[in-house]
Amino acid sequence: MPEQCLLDLRLPRSLDVIEAWAVREGASRLEAWVFEDRATRAAAELRLAQLGIEARLRSAYKPLLHAVLEDFGLEAVGQDGGTPEGQVLRVQLPQALAQRYRMEAYPLAGLLAEGALQFELSEPQAADTVLLQRGEQAPLTVFMPLRADHSATAWLRAWAGEALLRDGPLVGDDYQGVFDAVLAAVAAHDWGWNEPYFQRLMIEVEIGGIEAALPFGDEVISTREALHEDFYFGLLEFFQQRAGRGAGDRSLRPGQIVPIVLPAAAEVRETRVRMRLLEHPLLAESQAESQADGFDLAALATCAAPLSPALVAACMGSLAGERFGCLSTQGRAVSGLHRRGMRPAVVITAGQHANECSGVLGALRAVAELQHRADATYALVALENPDGAALHQQLCLQQPRHMHHAARFTALGDDLEWRTAPGQLGEKAARLEALQRSGARLHLSLHGYPAHEWTRPLSGYLPPGYASWAIPRGFFLIMRHHAGLDPWPYLQALTAGLALDERLLEFNARQYRLWEAHWGEMPMRIINGIGCMVAVDSRTDSAPFTLITEYPDETVYGEAFQLAHDTQTRMVLLACDLYWQGLLDPV
Ligand SMILES: [Zn+2]
Repeated sequence: MPEQCLLDLRLPRSLDVIEAWAVREGASRLEAWVFEDRATRAAAELRLAQLGIEARLRSAYKPLLHAVLEDFGLEAVGQDGGTPEGQVLRVQLPQALAQRYRMEAYPLAGLLAEGALQFELSEPQAADTVLLQRGEQAPLTVFMPLRADHSATAWLRAWAGEALLRDGPLVGDDYQGVFDAVLAAVAAHDWGWNEPYFQRLMIEVEIGGIEAALPFGDEVISTREALHEDFYFGLLEFFQQRAGRGAGDRSLRPGQIVPIVLPAAAEVRETRVRMRLLEHPLLAESQAESQADGFDLAALATCAAPLSPALVAACMGSLAGERFGCLSTQGRAVSGLHRRGMRPAVVITAGQHANECSGVLGALRAVAELQHRADATYALVALENPDGAALHQQLCLQQPRHMHHAARFTALGDDLEWRTAPGQLGEKAARLEALQRSGARLHLSLHGYPAHEWTRPLSGYLPPGYASWAIPRGFFLIMRHHAGLDPWPYLQALTAGLALDERLLEFNARQYRLWEAHWGEMPMRIINGIGCMVAVDSRTDSAPFTLITEYPDETVYGEAFQLAHDTQTRMVLLACDLYWQGLLDPV
């Protein structure tokens, strides 16, 4: 299949659209909200002033948080323990959108001293208005530019003298413009009905925007990361709907959707979007896959960044055991290892969702320990989705701190766990063989989730179907069990063991504080400082107990990444020990 271009479009940048409009319409004063950073907005304010137009340009992305950052500044509202007397920041929210705005204000509770942020409900307040009040000072009114579905939008409000010329969404906004253009081009294309519809659908955008780290945890504000998320999930939703599948269906195989949203150079006065259909990349072309020699297992403990598929393969190769496995869609090995001791078997898998990387390290490190125990019985698939991992490595070269959900699923675009016989199993064959050849009653499935806020600003703000994953809530466990089994005593003992690491407890407690401030009640039971969720599992191809770990590990490096894989490693070793002590035995 030759490369095919579906879209190649250049749009003027929003600030230039505003300037041209203001000159043409004779505006003397304007306020606008755009998806651009503060320096770019300030430069445009100056340009407009030179044209005799008084302008105030604000952020259309997270306008509430930006009002605090830009109108007050963090020092003035008491950052990090230094809340000046009477400097509590009161945020008055309209009843109708209180929860939406509380979430949008995230991570304000972490940027201010504990107790310095108070949300209040205000019955008569307009839905597009939030009031910010410091101490006894007069409140600041913050306008929240939203579409009817509560999505973020650029906005223009302009006057000629006292006459209002315009007050509405900015016509010609480039951020919305590239999104709409891609969705329209995809909708207009003839995809046929045979999955996959393509091998790789590549969307490349160069656009202005905000890329700012915040002084709390892993938090960053990135309009480009958010656009990647809106493209990726927006297109999945389009294909799901077209195929008559339910929202959030994970079995559809459209192909590999790859949005790459890069900064436009400051001097480039255009936003560019290209969309092409490509073939799967040749394995030899991936530079990250050639450097695997001379790596040893002991180095994993201090590993500060995710492993490439080639490094995982090298680690698997240096472990002893019977081999099994299969091939991925793009031709990479999905390697399995089986070790038979006297104990009941455990299956350990990681990397099902390939942008969740700490589990891969945890699985390898834990098994390297188990190799010294002759009685241990286990089957390991340390990287279930190597094609996703290869894409993740590629995307991280340019944007290491973006969560890159495009790399989560397989190269066919589905979640391998959702594949069932007699359909094509692909990568899932390795997991099923691990379960079958070992006869394990316990499957440890190591996962992660976003370490900073996950938004879809053009689709209602909170990610549809994943609202409760939008902000981190610490390391937690999900136990899925066949009907009639009781995992609670096991979870009690497991969390008690995990809680011996003070760093983990502090990490969790910090994130719980923000969750409670911005979301509200915890959606899980906290035992020994570790969250636990339990659900009955009706699948027929699963072990009686599937224990899933969830560490907020996407986008973290260095010490934060080490704590993530230390925790995954400890979890596997503890889970095996307690299982071998009989805590999950039938009563
Ligand atoms: Zn996952």
